[in-house]
Amino acid sequence: MQLQVKTLLNSLQRFSGFVFQDIRMKRRRDGGLEQVDISIEAHAGIPAKCSRCLKPAPGYDRLPSRSWLFVPLWEVTTLFHYPPRRVECAEHGVVVEHLPWSEGKRPVTKAMMCFLSRWARQLSLRETARAFHTSWECVYRSVEWFVQWGLAHRKLEGIEAIGVDEIHWGKSKRADNFLTVIYQIDTHCRRLLWVGKRRTQATLRKGLAALGTEVVQGLRFVCSDMWKPYLNVLAAQANQALHVLDRFHITSHLNQALDQVRRVESGRLRAAGSAQAQRLKHMRWKLLRRGSRVRGRAKRELGRLLRTKLMTARAWALKDLFEHFWTYKSVKYAGWFLDFWIWRALRSRIEPMQKVARTLRTHEPLILNWFRAKGEISSGAVEGLNNKIRVVTRRSYGFRTFNAMEIALYHTLGKLPEPNEFTHSLC
Ligand SMILES: [Zn+2]
Repeated sequence: MQLQVKTLLNSLQRFSGFVFQDIRMKRRRDGGLEQVDISIEAHAGIPAKCSRCLKPAPGYDRLPSRSWLFVPLWEVTTLFHYPPRRVECAEHGVVVEHLPWSEGKRPVTKAMMCFLSRWARQLSLRETARAFHTSWECVYRSVEWFVQWGLAHRKLEGIEAIGVDEIHWGKSKRADNFLTVIYQIDTHCRRLLWVGKRRTQATLRKGLAALGTEVVQGLRFVCSDMWKPYLNVLAAQANQALHVLDRFHITSHLNQALDQVRRVESGRLRAAGSAQAQRLKHMRWKLLRRGSRVRGRAKRELGRLLRTKLMTARAWALKDLFEHFWTYKSVKYAGWFLDFWIWRALRSRIEPMQKVARTLRTHEPLILNWFRAKGEISSGAVEGLNNKIRVVTRRSYGFRTFNAMEIALYHTLGKLPEPNEFTHSLC
């Protein structure tokens, strides 16, 4: 047993200057294995190194033995034990020696932190902790270290297109429950670059500062919603880039307006005891879907609704008409169509649709940039990343704190580089 574990350890994890000395098993009362203890010794012929400059230094004294949690062997909790030496470095004075498996004062080996972090991408933190007999705190701290390492080592080169968006998380609608996210949306790489609390100008300024002037100045395309604070900051800081208002955002503004019309009208009809109220029942998703994608029975129901003179039907027709806008190839014709649509919507006497029309009129140049950037940025990128974020924010609802969620988002969507702590991958 002893030889086998040592052979295994030596082939997986060799630390220069140290040897695996002794491997003991602690048994439970029922005879099962409770714990594997691995004691480490310093190699007699190799001097200790200063933990700050990694240069060899003469020994000073020895501290009491410390333990580090290692990757479980055969699912049994496994610990490293070693009494660290202190060295007297010419430059840094008396300091603890460099321990290649350890990170500062953390009681978990780097290998275990990598192991837990990789699993925490598949499982929730709580599930990871349970699967490997450790605490939520231990998994969380590991992922935090893993992400910080990744952020410190990632490369921000060749970023040409970014998407800026706001995400809501949690239950309340307070300012702190909104996040600003910056994505890279180049076709060759889509990832989360930055996430920050709130959705103010200050937030986005902080995010762009985190990416650095070089990255911001190198951008060719910026994609965002019509959210005023973002528009202001992007116009001021990245005006060399073509600013595009995302198709998905415009569609969602139209859908919100339509849904508002439906809700108000449905309430009014029900209050009046009208038979028409029945027609609006269970129509929500049929109305919000793209018209060409509604099929079968849903399509017949939608058809019946549209033949009525209801305001919802007219609002739907306006929304559906707008779909045509995206089929244009020429900026000029698209512009004419947009003007025509705005004119129609303003005459519709449907207040939510008029409001959308006024917003679109204000942002006409940015909306038309969509056609100028055609083929260069993908329409689904921001929406796709938003959906992924939603999966994480829901799963990590248990954290409640922003920091924990920030870590989880970078961990799952940041495409961060990983520390390579194993010669062989264990997971
Ligand atoms: Zn030193």
